[in-house]
Amino acid sequence: MESIEEVIKLNRVVSEWKANNNTIALVPTMGSLHSGHIYLIKEAKKLASKTVVSIFVNPIQFGKGEDYQSYPSSIELDKKKLEKEEVDIVFAPDLKQLYPMGTDTDTRITVPQISEILCGQHRPGHFSGVATVVAKLLLTCKPGFALFGKKDYQQYLVIKRMVSDLLIPTSIIGLPTQREKDGLALSSRNKYLSEVERKIAPKIYLSLQKASEIICAGVSNFNNAKKALIVELEAYGMKVEYFELRRAADLALPTDDEKSFVILIAVWLGKARLIDNIIIEL
Ligand code: AMP
Repeated sequence: MESIEEVIKLNRVVSEWKANNNTIALVPTMGSLHSGHIYLIKEAKKLASKTVVSIFVNPIQFGKGEDYQSYPSSIELDKKKLEKEEVDIVFAPDLKQLYPMGTDTDTRITVPQISEILCGQHRPGHFSGVATVVAKLLLTCKPGFALFGKKDYQQYLVIKRMVSDLLIPTSIIGLPTQREKDGLALSSRNKYLSEVERKIAPKIYLSLQKASEIICAGVSNFNNAKKALIVELEAYGMKVEYFELRRAADLALPTDDEKSFVILIAVWLGKARLIDNIIIEL
C-alpha cells in the first residue's frame, strides 16, 4: 500500500493506472476506521482493479461548536487496517492540499433542497461542505466507482445528485448500514458514548424497527406512533432532533401511493449526535 498526501502525486498515479487500463474505486472516509468502513473497502475491491481510500477530516462540513477539533483520529492504526485489506493507496491530504486558498473564500458546491432538510436543517452548510470535498476527491482520484454507506442516507442522496448534476463520470454506490450485534449502527462517533449511554444507544434502531412494522401495517399510523416512540427515547435521556418518514428516492414527503420509504432519525445522547435510518419497501 502506498501512502500519498499530495493531490499532484495522486493525479500522477491515477493517470498511470488509467493508461494501463485499470479501473478505480474510491472510498472517502474521515478515518477512525471501523468495520462499516472496512465493509465498503471490501466491496470496492470487488468492483475495480485499484482501490483508493481517502482519510480527511473535512473542516467545512462541521458547524461552529461541532466536534471538528475533537473528531476521533487514529491514522497509524487506520493505515494498518488498510494495509491488511490490501488497499492500493491511502490518500491522506492535509488542509492545504484540498483547500490551497484556505476555507474562508473558497468555491463551494451546493445541492439545493435536499441539503436543506433533516440533517441539513440542523447543520446549516453541512451538505455543501460534504458535496465540495467529495467533488474535490472525485476530481483528484477520477474513480469509476465511489462507495458510500447508507448509514448517512441523506449524504448518499446529496452526492448522487451532485454527481448527476455536474456530469461527473463516477458511479455512486450506496451500501447497507453495518451494525453492532445489538443493532447500533457503527459510527466513529460511538466513541463519545459513556458505558451507560452505549447500553441505551441500541434503542435508536429498535425504535426504527418498531416504526417500520407500524408502517407496514398502515402508513397513516406513523405520526401517532412517532410521538410515542419519541417519548420512549426521551425517557432514556436522548434528545430527538428529528424522526421522519420520507420518500426513499429523494426524501420528499411521501405521497399516498408511495411504496419506497425511509425513516430517518437523529438523536443526541450525551456528547454524541447519532443518526440512523431504515429503508422500507411495501
Ligand atoms: P465517515 O468516516 O463517517 O465520514 O464515513 C465514511 C463512509 O463510511 C461514508 O460513506 C459513511 O456512510 C460510511 N459508513 C459509516 N458508518 C457506516 C456503517 N455503519 N455502515 C456502512 N457504512 C458506513
